Amino acid sequence: MVREIIIWPDPILKELAKPVDRVDDSIRRLLDDMSETMYAADGVGLAAPQIAVLKRVITIDTSPRQEGQKLIHLVNPEIVKTEGETTYTEGCLSIPGEAEDVERAAKVWVRALGYDGKAFELECEGLLAIAVQHECDHLQGTLFVDHLSSLKRELIRKRMKKLKAEHAAERADEVKGAKRHERAL
Ligand SMILES: [Zn+2]
Repeated sequence: MVREIIIWPDPILKELAKPVDRVDDSIRRLLDDMSETMYAADGVGLAAPQIAVLKRVITIDTSPRQEGQKLIHLVNPEIVKTEGETTYTEGCLSIPGEAEDVERAAKVWVRALGYDGKAFELECEGLLAIAVQHECDHLQGTLFVDHLSSLKRELIRKRMKKLKAEHAAERADEVKGAKRHERAL
């Protein structure tokens, strides 16, 4: 099921996500919903807090932008080692239409539980390394805008508030339209 993606600023995106006790069917359903939502939005990654679920659960798929990649499920991910530095122009499904340069580690090693609940470790480079760091940030209540200057962040906040107001107005119009339609019957 495609879930609604929470748009920043929203207090839920600032919350700390809680570890998952064990990967059961409810977590697998959450992972399925998250990958479906991520693909529907044409995203590279999604963290559970972005659909208002405060659990340490992430989905990432950097294909076809990165060769040899596929869908990855990360439950309770932990970055255990980093190497080098890189700058990448990042966007976020919770901050639509915005992209800014963010400094990250060039390479990371992440430890997590997979879809089957088994522990694994993954060496990540390129876009995958960026995505892992970006999504792990979400679990700590940090967004890419938190890595920017306060001036840039406040400009983006203003644009997002305007966008949210427009969305709310559209929804109100839709409701009114539906009511008119009901009366027409
Ligand atoms: Zn994001």
